[in-house]
Amino acid sequence: MTGASSNSGKTAAPKIVGPIIFLGAPGVGKGTQAKRIAEKYDIPQISTGDILREHASRGSALGQKAKAIMDRGDLVSDKIVCDMVEFRLRQPDCDRGFILDGFPRTVEQATWLDGVLTAKSFDGKSLRPVVVDFVVSYNQLLQRLTGRRTCPVDGSIFNVHSQPPRVPDTCDLCGSKLVTRKDDSEDAISVRLKSYEQQTLPLVDYYRKQGTLRSISGEQTADKVTAETVAAIEKARG
Ligand code: AMP
Repeated sequence: MTGASSNSGKTAAPKIVGPIIFLGAPGVGKGTQAKRIAEKYDIPQISTGDILREHASRGSALGQKAKAIMDRGDLVSDKIVCDMVEFRLRQPDCDRGFILDGFPRTVEQATWLDGVLTAKSFDGKSLRPVVVDFVVSYNQLLQRLTGRRTCPVDGSIFNVHSQPPRVPDTCDLCGSKLVTRKDDSEDAISVRLKSYEQQTLPLVDYYRKQGTLRSISGEQTADKVTAETVAAIEKARG
């Protein structure tokens, strides 16, 4: 799709959106926002968590290796995740831009990505990423993670506290039975939040120093968060 009609409710998409990185703790709303922004600009959402879960459900060698690590809430190795992202970024649907949702999560991954983005060309130009850091208080995060239910078929995300499905435990879009992710158990949540603090939070400073970071409160309505995210992208890309 190029541009947009007023009937579609989308505004005209810039031709080149470039790389967009969504940072933030688990449960902050990155996945929900990534889906909205991906649709608005017609660019892919690249969720390393989704790709790993796909591997795990297919039972591939990589998936079998990653599953136990993910279920505990620990991070999968940088090498595995960087290889996956490298392969995905080579696909032609990434040529105008893409959203990295859940990547990078360590300084090593961010340094690796810098090298990849320097070498990648968007219509003949190299573009620095627009980095959005979504911020939500610790108590809110806990509530969101324990209340999260996801659709195993189309990936829709609900929350029993703040965004319940119309019919309990049922996906509004496709009618499938919603599931609680294994890593949304209390034990795994505390491991995930700890690894976020120790390994991912330093990326906020990393990108702030590069001058590409924009912080947005994820405690506003989802529509307000989307509007601020779009404004940040438009400002960066003109
Ligand atoms: P997510 O859906 O983004 O919360 O990711 C689910 C799980 O996948 C994480 O808890 C990690 O085990 C793994 N994972 C996803 N992205 C990464 C990454 N960039 N680096 C390491 N592990 C990751």
